[in-house]
Amino acid sequence: MALTDLFGRKHDYLRISVTDRCNLRCLYCMGPEGVKQIPQDQILTYEEILEVVRAGAALGISGVRLTGGEPLVRRGLSHLVRRISRIPGIEEVTMTTNGILLPNSAGPLKEAGLRRVNISIDSLKPAVYRRITRGGKLNRALAGVKAALEKGLKPVKVNIVLMKGINHREVPAFLKLAQEQELHLRFIEYMPIGARRDRHQKYYLPLAYVQKVAARMGLPLTPAPPVAGAGPAENFSLPGGKGTIGLIHPISRHFCGSCNRLRLIAEGYLKCCLYWQEERSVRPALGDSVLMQKLLQEVVRQKPEKHLMSAPCSSASLSPQAMRGMSRIGG
Ligand code: SAM
Ligand code: SF4
Repeated sequence: MALTDLFGRKHDYLRISVTDRCNLRCLYCMGPEGVKQIPQDQILTYEEILEVVRAGAALGISGVRLTGGEPLVRRGLSHLVRRISRIPGIEEVTMTTNGILLPNSAGPLKEAGLRRVNISIDSLKPAVYRRITRGGKLNRALAGVKAALEKGLKPVKVNIVLMKGINHREVPAFLKLAQEQELHLRFIEYMPIGARRDRHQKYYLPLAYVQKVAARMGLPLTPAPPVAGAGPAENFSLPGGKGTIGLIHPISRHFCGSCNRLRLIAEGYLKCCLYWQEERSVRPALGDSVLMQKLLQEVVRQKPEKHLMSAPCSSASLSPQAMRGMSRIGG
């Protein structure tokens, strides 16, 4: 029995936020003080997460992405990766991380069955990276990329949230990086989500800007076949490039028509859409696999045709659930 919504979209991908904690404070994601942390006893245990994944796998979920907060700050993550990868029906486990803790964990994660990583690096200049992440060290994130490549967590994707006046002048440097290295760089539009939605108007820049800069540099972006697990990204190749480019425009171009994803957040709520108020707790279904499958099906049926994000941001009528920050939802 597949997880098909009212608009005929099949769901085979589950994003799991394993923690709301983070070792950085990115300015598009949270305030300088961080976020109010969920008490530890309200965060799903690994056993509980596994129950949800088993029920999902029985209904056709084949891909799982671990995210956060920063997933690598949660202890014993390799153990979770190993157990998820062994669930019948699960074909790949991947992760989105800021990369800071990857140098020590890439090997054990690969060995546990992790396939690939997406690493968020929004600037190639140490001072700008420090400003965006509020104190992060670029060389540590780059060491994370190196470790991921060395351990074969490929293709390594680098996520870049494009922000006017912060990193938009670095588009040429990022395009050069994709020419020179075997990396898939994904530019993402700034989304008006959570506590940082107030900054949206100031920083938002449509991704048509990246295409314009590439054309100006004599590096026209040519549509290319999807990269493994590309999700909503449009993919492009560069002349003579070892790497590729992805553009993710949730705002300027809706990507909802092909959405195949469900989200499970750390405190145990299932979300059918990144920006939608309906959420359902998995707790009442824990210990009962039939009920858990039923719950997953109900959540999929509640999915809207499109998310409600727009530019400029119009969030006044949304509930606090729809306004959870990215560090709670997991991107
Ligand atoms: N800590 C990990 C990381 O930074 O990759 C995983 C969690 S983070 C919430 C997941 C993704 O969401 C990151 O790629 C991050 O850049 C993106 N993100 C966070 N806030 C965003 C926003 N307001 N607009 C667009 N992307 C955002
Ligand atoms: Fe942490 Fe990721 Fe949010 Fe940055 S984007 S503050 S690394 S959760």
